[in-house]
Parts: sequence; C-alpha cells; structure tokens
Amino acid sequence: MVRPGRAEFLHGYPPSSVSDRPLPAPPDGLLRWPVVIVGAGAAGMMTAIHAARTGVPVLVLESARKPGAKIKVSGGGRCNVLPSVVDEGDFHTEGSSKAVRKVLRSWPLDHVTAFFADDLGIPLKVEDTGKVFPVSDRSGDVVVALLRAMDRAGVTLATDTRVADVTRGDGGFTVTTTDDRSVHADRLVLTTGGLSLPKTGSDGAGYRWARTLGHTVLPRYPALVPLLTDTGDWDRLAGLAVPARLTARAPKVVWEGEGDLLVTHKGFSGPVVLDASYRVAAPWGQGTALTARWAAADAPADWDVHLQQGGARPVAAVLRDTLPRRLADHLCGLADIDPSTTLGALRRDDRKRLVSLLEECPLHVTGTEGYRTAEVTGGGVPLAELSTTTLESRLVPGLHMAGEIIDVTGRLGGYNFHWAWVTGRLAGLAAG
Ligand SMILES: Cc1cc2nc3c(=O)[nH]c(=O)nc-3n(C[C@H](O)[C@H](O)[C@H](O)COP(=O)(O)OP(=O)(O)OC[C@H]3O[C@@H](n4cnc5c(N)ncnc54)[C@H](O)[C@@H]3O)c2cc1C
Repeated sequence: MVRPGRAEFLHGYPPSSVSDRPLPAPPDGLLRWPVVIVGAGAAGMMTAIHAARTGVPVLVLESARKPGAKIKVSGGGRCNVLPSVVDEGDFHTEGSSKAVRKVLRSWPLDHVTAFFADDLGIPLKVEDTGKVFPVSDRSGDVVVALLRAMDRAGVTLATDTRVADVTRGDGGFTVTTTDDRSVHADRLVLTTGGLSLPKTGSDGAGYRWARTLGHTVLPRYPALVPLLTDTGDWDRLAGLAVPARLTARAPKVVWEGEGDLLVTHKGFSGPVVLDASYRVAAPWGQGTALTARWAAADAPADWDVHLQQGGARPVAAVLRDTLPRRLADHLCGLADIDPSTTLGALRRDDRKRLVSLLEECPLHVTGTEGYRTAEVTGGGVPLAELSTTTLESRLVPGLHMAGEIIDVTGRLGGYNFHWAWVTGRLAGLAAG
C-alpha cells in the first residue's frame, strides 16, 4: 500500500504496487504536499532522495507499475551508470555549453561515484571503454538501491498513477491523474523524461505541461538512434561490425567521431553511428551528409598510394588485408570493380572510385529508426529557461525540471544517466 512518508516498495525489485484512491494526502497539518515529483525514472528518483533528505514530505507520482524501467533495460541490462570522464563537450544543447558546465560542476563525477558506492551501496567499476557499470553487472540493483534510498528518506511513491494534467494557481500546483484523482503541491518537479522507448510510458506529457505553463519546448527528435538507408544494398552485410571514422558535413564538417559501426538489416548502428545520429536526426540536421572512412588500426594511411603498388594480387585480397572480407567485396561491388582484378590491371578511374569509397564512403542516410529504438530525445525545454543553480523555472516560480526533459543530450557512454543524476540532485536540493 502507499503509505504517507514511505515509498511503497518493500523488499526487492519489482516493488509491489497498488494505486490508492484517493492519492496519498499530505501529512497532517498540511494542505498541500511541499514537493510533488512527476516521474520516477533516473532523474525523478534522484530528485526525490535529495528533496526528502532536506526534511520535507515528498510525493512521487509514476505512471508505470515498476519505477525505473529505463534503468532496468539500460546498458544491455547492466546499466552504464556513469562515464569515467566528463565535461560539457560530451553533451549537445541548443543553448549555452557554459550553462551545461555549471550544472555538471554542481556535483563532480567523483562525488557522484562516491554517492553510488557509499550511500546507495552500489560499488562501480570502470571498463576499458571508459564506461562505468555496477560491479554486480545488474541494472536491477541500481533501481532497488534508489528505491531503498527513497524509502529511507521517507518518500511517498504512488505507482500506476498516470498524471494527465498540471495546472498552476493559488500559490501552488494542482496535479490531476488520468483517473481524475488530484493532489496539490507547493513545488512541482517534472522528471517525465523524453519520448524514447514509448513502451516504458514516455509519451511526452511533461513537454505539454511545460508548454502550457509558459515554457518554450524546442523541437524534439530521436537521438542515439540507429540510422536507415535504402541505397547500396548494405543489408547484405547485416551483422557486420567494423571500426569506422564518421564525418558529418553540412556542407562543412560539423561532426567527426570514431568507433564501431554495425551494419543492420535496415541501415547502420553501433556506437559511432548512435553518437553521430543526432546530427542527421535533428530538424536542423536535415541535409547533413554522413561518410565513413573504414578505419582498422592497420589500414593504410593513404589508400590511393597503397593501391598503386601494382603487382598480381587481386584488389579484393589487398582490401581484405585490413578490412573484413564481406566489406572488401562489397566496396569492390559498389565501385563496380571485379574483385579479382589485379592491382597491376586496376585502371586509374576504378582506383579513384574505390579510394573514395574507402576513405569517404557515403552512407546515404534516409532517416532514423525513431523513438522506438532511440536511447534519448534531443530538444526539449531550454536550459536557459531554468536557473542553473536550482533548475527552477525562470518563468514559473516553484516549478523545477530535471533529466531528459531538458534540452541537453549526452553522447553514448553513461552521459545521459550522469545528466539525470546531477540534475535530479540539483532540483531535489532546491525543491526540498
Ligand atoms: C534502451 C535504452 C538504454 C539506455 N542505456 C543507457 C545507458 O546505459 N547509460 C546512460 O547513461 N543512458 C542510457 N539510456 C538513456 C537513459 O535511460 C535516459 O537518459 C534516462 O533514463 C533519462 O532519465 P529521466 O529520469 O529524465 O527519464 P526516464 O528515465 O524516461 O523517466 C521518466 C519517468 O517518468 C514517467 N512518466 C512519464 N510520463 C508520466 C506521466 N504522465 N505520469 C506519471 N509518470 C510519467 C515514466 O514512466 C518514467 O518512469 C538508455 C535509454 C534506453 C531507451
């Protein structure tokens, strides 16, 4: 049961969950809850812990039966909780990166790590990739630890409780659920996340309320998302992972990055593609061209020189020295070259076409897989409309926001959770 002053989970994950009717009343003597948080994801749970630890009663409303669904599925079920190094350059925002830096500095990375290890009892490990995971490799442990910390702090959590609307008036906020229950709050924190992975309950409601309450909501788009192509018969290579250096041009170079590229049945994925995806998925990114340089560590620095050495070895065999066989053959096909052509017989025009495919292979992106598979949502509420020290709205006193709802998107590697933890703490301390 939901009990005022207690999180409703008891032992282990998932928590037992019931929706009470009416919603939990504020503690005796109070007409309104001092703090209501909508959304018990990464940001909402961190907000709740920090707000409740200041000593005020806190109510969290969560639409799902089990809170923290995205934490649970994250990192392939292991939860890439944090990065091992961070600065504002790891995030994209339409606003000021100085403002992002200010928020990040409010809770330095080593303090966040210590909080997980010492406070939540989740020791962390850094992997070779620089990503940070729980030592247990279990994302469920992170959810349980956050719920336990909420419980210890005295947070009241109502799950299965979908908020339909929030309105302002009378010195506070009224929060109404889809089944017409309502509560009143002095301070309201929106931690409803974005639009990605809609089956977890993210339908963008928080953006609607932010707009109704007077905020700008910048155009949203799927980010950290696989890309689609309909050119080049790449599906034949589905399943192939290969190191690549990607360049985005619009028309000047606007982004470069290196990492594994995975060919899928519909296009391209893998870390470097996910990181590049916001460049082509954002409304302002339309027309951005993406090219790949196939970048095995021992690949020739200059393919043109390398392919001019002459001799009797077939072109495809030379490519296969450093590239996967399927890719080598595919590139010969795209260049319209018989793979058995010897280097000595390779015509200049053919060589130039092949070199261009090796060094600047156009990926002809036609779109993205959309929110269904996107890890995060780009765009949202401009950070400039929030105080960087309290994450309180500059337009609506008493309203705070944290997490993905804000127009700040991290790259792959634990940066998005990092943003959720840091902003959650900041909003929680200020709202509490
Ligand atoms: C498959 C996948 C894997 C990921 N892996 C990683 C990773 O390993 N590392 C990393 O850093 N990031 C990862 N991310 C991104 C990360 O999950 C998000 O950046 C993070 O969860 C955002 O936290 P949030 O609290 O802002 O939003 P969310 O976690 O989305 O939480 C929002 C909460 O609000 C609730 N809610 C929404 N609307 C309502 C409503 N109307 N009423 C009540 N409740 C509502 C939702 O049910 C949800 O619980 C991954 C994302 C996905 C989809």
